[in-house]
Amino acid sequence: MKKFLIIIILIFCVFLCGCIKEEKTSLDEIKERGNLVVGVKFDAKPFGYIENDNLQGFDIDIAKKIAKEIFDDESKVEFIEVNSENRISKLMSGEIDIIVATMSDTQERRLIVDFSEPYYISGQSVLCKKDTEVASVADLKNHNTVVVIGTTAEKTLRKLYIRSNVIRALNYNEAFNAVNKDTCLIADEALLQGFVADNKDYQIFNKKLSQEPYAVAIRKDEPELKQMVDYTIKNLEHSDELEKIKNKWIK
Ligand code: GLU
Repeated sequence: MKKFLIIIILIFCVFLCGCIKEEKTSLDEIKERGNLVVGVKFDAKPFGYIENDNLQGFDIDIAKKIAKEIFDDESKVEFIEVNSENRISKLMSGEIDIIVATMSDTQERRLIVDFSEPYYISGQSVLCKKDTEVASVADLKNHNTVVVIGTTAEKTLRKLYIRSNVIRALNYNEAFNAVNKDTCLIADEALLQGFVADNKDYQIFNKKLSQEPYAVAIRKDEPELKQMVDYTIKNLEHSDELEKIKNKWIK
């Protein structure tokens, strides 16, 4: 009888071990797949942009550093183009593992995604042509204002009570192309500077309209991946690498 009981207990233990199979985290899946899939901008100089057929920028370097931390090889990263409007849905659908795309950490977005430690702080400003009559933010109400859809600049429009004469652009190329004598653009200063560097007919207002902490976005149920991203950014910060990357791209 005792022997029989021991056999039953053993069978039960084997059955239990089979059931408690460890669930794979998304970090495990990324490691198994062999590359990190990152949503980045392709038209947001100096963060993610193409020059001489080469995708480059601040965000691209940050993504490579995260891949280096995971695989000890910064080339194990695949870049997928996102814009400000579609980046969260691409993350939620699993098309990309993380977003590194000039994305500000905001309370509203925190309801949907997690954010890493910030890796850069920008702030919104206004870009106009030098020959415009717009001399202050208040003047925008009597002119046209461009914002990129899905950006925090849309919220700023509401704060400034600018409801009419608004042009909503799909991406930054479209937004910059819309700027003329009567039309100014509200966007992050870091992006405006990237544009003005090559276009001397434009000016940026000194006044900052917001604070924009850029951070990596991660799906909410992935604490291991978030930890890995946070660890990478903190390490870059402590080793001064982050400062070097910043100085490389922001003049
Ligand atoms: N940082 C701002 C935002 O996250 C504007 C830039 C962008 O959309 O990528 O909305």
